[in-house]
Amino acid sequence: MKTCGVLALQGDFEAHCRAVERVGGKPVEVRSAGDLKRCDSFIIPGGESTTMLKLLNAEKLVEPILQFSRLHPVYGSCAGAILLAQEVSHPTQPSLGLLDIEIERNAYGRQVDSRIVKVSVETEKENAQMEAVFIRAPIIRRVGATVRTLASYQGNSVWVEQGRHMVTTFHPELTSDLRVHRRFLEKS
Ligand code: GLN
Repeated sequence: MKTCGVLALQGDFEAHCRAVERVGGKPVEVRSAGDLKRCDSFIIPGGESTTMLKLLNAEKLVEPILQFSRLHPVYGSCAGAILLAQEVSHPTQPSLGLLDIEIERNAYGRQVDSRIVKVSVETEKENAQMEAVFIRAPIIRRVGATVRTLASYQGNSVWVEQGRHMVTTFHPELTSDLRVHRRFLEKS
């Protein structure tokens, strides 16, 4: 059974752990570099990216995550996507830069602008719709040449992958649709 770490410093990590279980993985809550060593892959959940960044620095997790990412898949949802992007705007903030994308924070507006919509899935296995929950979500404004779009909404990529790494600007852990977690677990 594959072990999938979920960053458990802040945000909705418990829902990701349940989704990992439902696709047959073993979730591990990650709070330290030692926890990360036990994992085959790693998820950074939604939450508040500025707070998460501070906590990652305080727990000295930035360098261990970068090292982990050189060999293992990393997936970020929403705030996690912001942390994995190469460039962050509105406002700018440092990030881990694992995917060649530029992302704009809170790009759909204020909290009330959170929504549940249907996004278009464009994986090789299927072309279909997927229900997606957006909560104060960012928008991916630039996608690098080697980044692949797996789903889009209103003309913007909302699920992308580059090599072994993946991000969604929505929260697949909050719906019963397991396609995102299944694809991610298959990478490890
Ligand atoms: N707006 C948050 C941020 O900028 C992300 C929201 C979320 O993860 N649901 O970090």
